[in-house]
Amino acid sequence: MNNEPLTINYEPVIGLQVHVELKTKSKMFCSCSADYFGQKPNTHTCPVCLGSPGALPVPNGKAIDWCVMIGLALNCKIANFSKFDRKNYFYPDLPKGYQISQYDQPFCLKGFITLSNGKKIGITRVHMEEDTAKLTHQGENSLIDFNRSGVPLVEIVTEPDFENAKEVIEYLKKLQQIVRYLDVSDADMEKGNMRLEPNISLREITMNNELLTINNLPKYKVEVKNINSFRFAEKAIEYEIRRQTEILSENKTPVQETRGWDEDKQKTVSQRIKEEANDYRYFPEPDIPPIRFTQNQIRQLADQMPELPDAKLARLIKEYNLSKYDAEILTREKEMTDYFEEAVKVGKTFKINPKQIANTVINKKIDMNNILPAELVKNIVNFKKTDDIDENKLQEITDKVIKENQKAINDYKSGKVQVIGFLIVKVKQHFPTADSNQIKTALEKQLK
Ligand code: ZN
Ligand code: MN
Repeated sequence: MNNEPLTINYEPVIGLQVHVELKTKSKMFCSCSADYFGQKPNTHTCPVCLGSPGALPVPNGKAIDWCVMIGLALNCKIANFSKFDRKNYFYPDLPKGYQISQYDQPFCLKGFITLSNGKKIGITRVHMEEDTAKLTHQGENSLIDFNRSGVPLVEIVTEPDFENAKEVIEYLKKLQQIVRYLDVSDADMEKGNMRLEPNISLREITMNNELLTINNLPKYKVEVKNINSFRFAEKAIEYEIRRQTEILSENKTPVQETRGWDEDKQKTVSQRIKEEANDYRYFPEPDIPPIRFTQNQIRQLADQMPELPDAKLARLIKEYNLSKYDAEILTREKEMTDYFEEAVKVGKTFKINPKQIANTVINKKIDMNNILPAELVKNIVNFKKTDDIDENKLQEITDKVIKENQKAINDYKSGKVQVIGFLIVKVKQHFPTADSNQIKTALEKQLK
């Protein structure tokens, strides 16, 4: 037998970094408005977010509270002691030459999100930092807008627990849903409120003397940037898995680097060779004192949080006897659940059951902004009434038609079933709005 280990398969190892912009009124370390989308460039600036020497940052308490709430919603432990650090690097979008971020003592650690199949995706950390300015390239020139500089940004880092793109997308949708439930970010990918960077590598599964071995984490990691939709994320990850499999199967190791998704070319392209963490020369931010949380403060924040998606889903299934499928659709957005539950309350007085309301809300794609829950219930009640009237009226007319057309009936009974068409036409003459199939069913029932 051959003693060389034989590679029989490659298994993707995927981790994820997500940046979420908070929708606080003001920026992270100054009082400039953080609501920059669509505003005239460089109108929301001051010495702090422009990085003038000597300008002092003052942390935004609301943003810190919201970061902790995100951590709590993601089942993290909240650090009793935390601090800000300077992450040094030179790039035009960073006027100070460093980003205020958190290095070794972030606000939140060790959480998880549970996927629908029960698998837990570990969350390494959730930390607070500031957004950079926005660069726009126009031919040979680069334009810079500092309105985004200093907007509160929360970074959520996972363990390398994903095995495929599908799991990543499910996680992202859940994360987006959670921050929207908390009402701390719009988490709109197109507007850049939510940005994601998957890192992808493959580990080998080898067979040696009939012993199957899943090897340790690979020695390289490829990070993909420039992804601004869930669909692109899926495509980029799948592309990377194919690309790296090819390299590995030629007995080579993929380069550790940052790549970007190119939607036109439908592939990832190399951007730069990855820096090691110590290249950033992190050190504690001297202008901001460390932050301490008491258990009481953390409890108070937890008490302010709304019911979260997983809990809401379980409650809807139990309380209203809905299917998991229906409950999932209804809880996708908090507004939809609220709407549904309001309609259920009104519906009770009219003996309309929650299932019927769920069906209407889901299937009719109700315009929730213009139709009040009470109106929706009224429509269901009225619809039921006209339905009852129609049934009775149809019965009356089919009776009449059967009595007046005995010859056709005899033909039908002797096997000429096609006369049913003639009878349908007769019924329609008296009741033009009735549906042909409905008439057919009613006639057949009576002729049995
Ligand atoms: Zn400012
Ligand atoms: Mn970051």
